[in-house]
Order: sequence, then C-alpha cells, then structure tokens
Amino acid sequence: MADFETPALTEFQLVPHIKKGSMAHSQTFAAKPEFQEDLGFPGELEEGWEDVAVKKLGELTTKYRGLKVFLDSCVKCGACTDKCHYYLGTADPLNMPVARQDLLRSVYRRYYTFAGKYFPWLVGARKMTKGMLDKWYCYFHQCSQCRRCSVFCPYGIDTAEISMAAREIMDAVSVGQKYCNEIIGKVYKIGNNLGLPEKALVNTLEGLEEDVKDETGIDVRFPVDQAGADVLLITPSADFFAEPHIDGLIGYGKVFHQAGINWTLSSHASEAGNFGMFIGSYENMRRVALRIREAALDLKVKRIVVGECGHAWRVAYSFWNTLIGVGHGGNDPYAKALQQQLDPNYPAPQHIIELTYDLIQKGALTLDKSANDDQRVTFHDSCNVARASRMGTMPGGQFVLPREVIKSSVNHYFDMAPETIHENTFCCGGGGGILTDDLIEIRVKGAQPRMQALMDVVQEYDVNYLAAICAICKSQFSKVLPYYKFPMDMIGSVHGLVSNAIQLGAKQ
Ligand code: SF4
Ligand code: SF4
Repeated sequence: MADFETPALTEFQLVPHIKKGSMAHSQTFAAKPEFQEDLGFPGELEEGWEDVAVKKLGELTTKYRGLKVFLDSCVKCGACTDKCHYYLGTADPLNMPVARQDLLRSVYRRYYTFAGKYFPWLVGARKMTKGMLDKWYCYFHQCSQCRRCSVFCPYGIDTAEISMAAREIMDAVSVGQKYCNEIIGKVYKIGNNLGLPEKALVNTLEGLEEDVKDETGIDVRFPVDQAGADVLLITPSADFFAEPHIDGLIGYGKVFHQAGINWTLSSHASEAGNFGMFIGSYENMRRVALRIREAALDLKVKRIVVGECGHAWRVAYSFWNTLIGVGHGGNDPYAKALQQQLDPNYPAPQHIIELTYDLIQKGALTLDKSANDDQRVTFHDSCNVARASRMGTMPGGQFVLPREVIKSSVNHYFDMAPETIHENTFCCGGGGGILTDDLIEIRVKGAQPRMQALMDVVQEYDVNYLAAICAICKSQFSKVLPYYKFPMDMIGSVHGLVSNAIQLGAKQ
C-alpha cells in the first residue's frame, strides 16, 4: 500500500496550486563509497568539498558553453513553470523547471558573476553549503532530463543539461546515486545493466529460440558473438527477459529472419543503455560505450543497429560519433578502423525502427495487420527519441517512422492529444535515472500527465495497448499503470506488434 496519494485524473489537465515543500522528503538511496570509487569519484564527503564543488561548476561552464549560456540567459518569463510533469504531478514549486535551474544558477551567480560576488542579495546568489547540496540531491533527482521544458522556453534553456551538471558536481564530491552508479559499475564488470553473465545470456537466447520455434514452427535465431555477421544489434538488457521488452526482441529476430539479415548480439556489449549520460559524466559515458566499439571491431560487423531504448538512442545518435567513432568524429586509430569497417550505405548507427521501416517500404516484410485486431493502439513518444535525436532522413522522422511501423502492423491506431505527443510529449515519469523503487512516489506522480492523455484515448477510442520504443518507459509504465487503474500489461513494444503481424511462413 502506497503511503502517498496518486494524483487524480480529471476532465482536463489541471495546473495545480503550489504546495511548498511537498516533495522535499524525496530521497534516492546514495551510492556506497566503493561504488563511487569504481567510477572514479571520491567515496566520502571530505573537508573542503565546497571548494571542489565550486571549482567543478566553473570547469563545467567553461567546458560546456551551452551550460554557461543556459545559466546566464533566463529572464524569468515563467513560460516553463507548468511544463514539467513533476510539477503537474506534485505541485512542489521546486519542480518548476526555472526553480530547479535556480538551485544551481544561484550558486553559479555567487561565485562566477560580478553582481553575485558583490551584491548576492540583489541577484539571488547563494553559497555552496550542505543545505544547498541536500536540496540539489533531492530535486535534481526529481528531473528525468526529458527536455520538455526547453521546448517552451523562448531561449531554449535546457534544464536537462543543468540537471546533468548538478549530478556531475555531486559525484565529484562523492554524493552519487545508488541506482545509476551501481548499474554503471555492473556494466564495467559484467557488460550489462542487469548483471546478466554471458552463460545466462546464451541460455536465455537458446530458450527464446525454442519458444519461437514452438509458436511459429520456424527456426528464428538469436545469435550471440557470431564473428562476421553483417549487423551487430545493441539492445537494452531488459529485452532479454523483462516483460513486455522481450516481445520486442522476438520481433527484431523475426524481422532479421524474414529479411535474411545475418545478425548477432554481443556478450561483451550486451547493453544499449548508458547511464553515464544520466549522471552527466562524459568519461563514464565513453567508458560504457567503448565496449560497443570493442565488440564491433572483434566481430567485424558492417552495421550497428540499436534496439528499442530511448536514452540509448540519444547516446548512440548524438554522442557515439565522438565517443567511439560510430559516424564521423572519433579520431583515434580504433575509431578510424571502425569507420573503415562499417558499410557507408547504411546509417551508423541505425535504429531498429528505421531498419524495419525501410524493409516495409521495400516490401521485404509480410505483415498481416489482422493478427493485431484485438489491439487498439496508441503510441508514447519517448523523450530522448522525440526531443534529443532524430531517426531516418526526413525531418520529424522520429515521430513518423514508429507510427508508420505500427500502422503497418495494426488496423486500429489512435494518437493521444497533440499537446502531449511528438516534441510536446510527456515523460513516462521514470527516465533520467529515476526508475528505482526508492523514488516510486515521484515516478507515480510524474506519470500523471501521460496517464491523463492515455485516459482520454481509452475513453474515446477504447485504446488497450500503449506502444513504446524505450526500455525505461516500458518498465515504468508496467509499474505505474495500476496506480491509475489501468492494467499493467497494457504497455507493449512496437516490435511486439510487428512480431504478432509478421507472417514467417506456414508451420512445418
Ligand atoms: S523533468 Fe523534464 S520538464 Fe521537468 S525540469 Fe527536468 S527536463 Fe524540464
Ligand atoms: S521559460 Fe526559459 S527564460 Fe522563461 S523562466 Fe523558464 S527557463 Fe527562464
């Protein structure tokens, strides 16, 4: 039984009256010192930490010019105040994007602006103190780095970047989050977020081959470490056994099978997720991503395809080029070798949706939409795909391609209200390192705007399937849907729909 109240779903999305401090008690578990040290951070808060934090803040504003612009340019117009799902769901004023930014901006002003140094009371400049650090820890772990607020800000100020910087500064003084940092440690030791070792991965995939054979009569393969395969699939480890993620993996396998694409997974790089981005650490993001390059070089693949995972696609699309040389940008010998190795006729990287969409356009897949006639489907645009990356060659392809893949697989599709989809999409409430049980209250409350939009299409069109292309969204919705009286199995993979519709041939 939850010890908090689930927000009500009403006729229209309401902007709540302010409830000061209503989420001030929210505390995510802290990472233990040994886990901090694994990631190259100090284990304990040491004397003089305030100076370290202020110095780190200065470094970040020099290194990331955008961060400095964001900190300098807010005019307090208020356009962002009611755009964050966490404010709408909690009414805590510190969950207004501008107020969240000001937690860091006030410290920046105190140490790095003339007015803040000499007239701090005039410009709201504040010292870096333990009280401030505690507020950062509380409220920067109530931001899913979804970037919705930036769409409505006339200056494009991106709170996600400010939130990442705050987490990076906190890690620099030892104050890290258990959920993200321990998961990154697991990737370093084992290769994936779930700590699934190679043998267990191989067994799981063999079991999956048997299940698909039983269901279809066809030998659909889920190969691991096949040197010389054309395609390396990098997918979130949740796809290997979590529900409904695994239906998506089965769908990818069937697509590769029908298109005759020689593909493989890697036991060394068995994770698409990259929590280095959530903690704002370029070094850790790179270290996680390097495993993918190592696997691609070892297996001599020609293409790299990314499975259904929102933030992983953001890292792949926006950062893999300079991080590891997938695409143009990396300059070291390994990056250059990989650029030589990958087939220039395909995007590097390519999203699985893009691959399936292209195959559908070419008529290479046989899809029977009526196989999904019991599904009435809507699509949740995942934040990191919608607002932080693109897909395919057309502008807005990240909105069009997933919907076209769905519409090729189902007869009944209905969009949610326009102000809640595409670049206006509401976060699931669990992104950006929030998907942990110790933050269940903020997860449930932050899901309210998405649940509100979902309720509208459920009532109007009898929608019973919420499709998504993000492992975090899928896990988050499985957990929070019941709080809003929706069935937890209403959430599904886009490739789960493809999997149902694809006609692989008659049973043997
Ligand atoms: S959760 Fe999203 S909308 Fe809210 S402050 Fe963070 S980036 Fe902005
Ligand atoms: S919309 Fe932009 S400029 Fe206006 S208050 Fe919010 S962050 Fe500041």
